[in-house]
Amino acid sequence: MPARTGAQYIAGIRDRAAEVYIGGERVKDVTTHPAFAGGLRTVAGLLDMQHAPALHDEMTYTSPSTGDPVGLSFIMPRNAEDLARRRNMMRNWAKLSCGMMGRTPDFLNVAVTSMAAASDYSGLNRPEFKQNILDYYEYIRENDIVMTHTLVNLQRSRAVGATPFDDRTEVALSVAKETDAGLVVRGARVLATLGPLSDEIAVYPARTRRVPAGDEGRYAFGFAIPCNTEGLKFQCRDSVDLGRSHFDHPAGSRFEEMDAIVFFDDVLVPWERVFLYNDVALCNQWGERTNRNAHTAHQVVTKNVVKCEFMLGLATLMVDTLGSGDLPATQHLIAEIIENLEITKALLAASEAQASVDEWGIFCPDYRPLLVARKKMIDMYPRMTEILHLLGSSSLMALPAEADLNGPLAEDIREYMDTDTATAEERIRLFRLAWDVSCSAFGSRQTLYERYFGGDGARNAALLYQIYDRGAQRDMVEEFLSLE
Ligand SMILES: Cc1cc2nc3c(=O)[nH]c(=O)nc-3n(C[C@H](O)[C@H](O)[C@H](O)COP(=O)(O)OP(=O)(O)OC[C@H]3O[C@@H](n4cnc5c(N)ncnc54)[C@H](O)[C@@H]3O)c2cc1C
Repeated sequence: MPARTGAQYIAGIRDRAAEVYIGGERVKDVTTHPAFAGGLRTVAGLLDMQHAPALHDEMTYTSPSTGDPVGLSFIMPRNAEDLARRRNMMRNWAKLSCGMMGRTPDFLNVAVTSMAAASDYSGLNRPEFKQNILDYYEYIRENDIVMTHTLVNLQRSRAVGATPFDDRTEVALSVAKETDAGLVVRGARVLATLGPLSDEIAVYPARTRRVPAGDEGRYAFGFAIPCNTEGLKFQCRDSVDLGRSHFDHPAGSRFEEMDAIVFFDDVLVPWERVFLYNDVALCNQWGERTNRNAHTAHQVVTKNVVKCEFMLGLATLMVDTLGSGDLPATQHLIAEIIENLEITKALLAASEAQASVDEWGIFCPDYRPLLVARKKMIDMYPRMTEILHLLGSSSLMALPAEADLNGPLAEDIREYMDTDTATAEERIRLFRLAWDVSCSAFGSRQTLYERYFGGDGARNAALLYQIYDRGAQRDMVEEFLSLE
């Protein structure tokens, strides 16, 4: 099947309904439920972009097996041109949500593609796992599957010395038994962003964590299954789509990607969907050795450039509207966002300039600048929302709703709320967006997302410490010390 349309995606989510719970109830149809429908429409819009005449060539490439146009994020890059084309495609998707949706399908497309490109790695575990990951990659590419993933065991005790793996209550997801049909897994995981809006869910070890060595093989696995697999349940948080108009809630009404806890209640994972199992060392090295970490970081940082651009544009409009651009303090704050944007752009460019063909024959961006960019965003994004607070101050609360523009105080609003550059309505529209990005439940979730979705700052720092070869720098100092 060629790249899907939004309507085909929505029909699939409706027809293969997963067990999704919110507010004490099972959701009958996520495609019409107000908690999810706005976000779902945006995901559908991403898929429709693949069919827009002006974008079709930028968003798709020719399937090597069918000759059909398929999504470009499934491409296995072989050279600089492929990598740049893939980045451009991912940038187009990021722009649709102003960088506010993290789990656009390209993230997991790129993850599975890189594991399939390095299928020999799965074969080191068991020969049949090599074919499993290749078949799965082909399946998601040809059917344009939308995926979520859940990599982290639910917090229970993070005390020093405790691991989620020796928890007697079996909270950590583990293999309960092996059968002829496959693995039966039990436990809970966080968080499946886009879970209720996905066709399939992937489970594999997180980049920033290690499965401890020893006899914990039953915690070492990677697999993917349909979201409607029996025993799989998605428990959602409150929706940040408040059911308001785009005017009132411009981001939340469009970009709710939902995060869910996933309960695995004796879920059968068929053997053909297992990509690694019961080899702690292989599981722990998977992301690095296959370069999955580098490719997913390439998607994340591409998205982050768009997000920084959006924050800069928003801050600029706020300053222009309030006429505060001549104030040195304002210029200082805007300069900070410019720095964030330029640093992120430069790191993305460096990753491509230093890209090389890896041991799997794939043209791979340099992970080091991408990891730095990911880690920087953990601090930069919360600061950028803080800058919106500092620039906007009371205007972030002086926010009549759309209905008020036609309500009893409409005349007062129009008379008093304009500025030198904006009508009252333009000002309110702008500051409702700034509020939604920096103050609303949607905005708070964005900040939490950037802080944590890819692991916390401390673990990302540890990862940078581990992967960064500092030999040349140490030699440089040793050479200096050896001078007479
Ligand atoms: C909005 C949002 C969306 C997410 N989406 C996804 C998703 O789609 N898929 C997915 O798999 N996960 C997702 N996550 C989960 C994310 O990967 C985790 O939140 C993250 O890895 C941190 O793990 P934790 O929440 O268990 O916190 P913890 O590991 O408990 O850490 C909490 C804090 O304590 C510190 N800490 C605790 N223990 C240690 C330790 N041993 N060493 C160092 N520091 C420690 C950390 O620095 C951190 O600041 C999402 C999270 C959020 C907030």
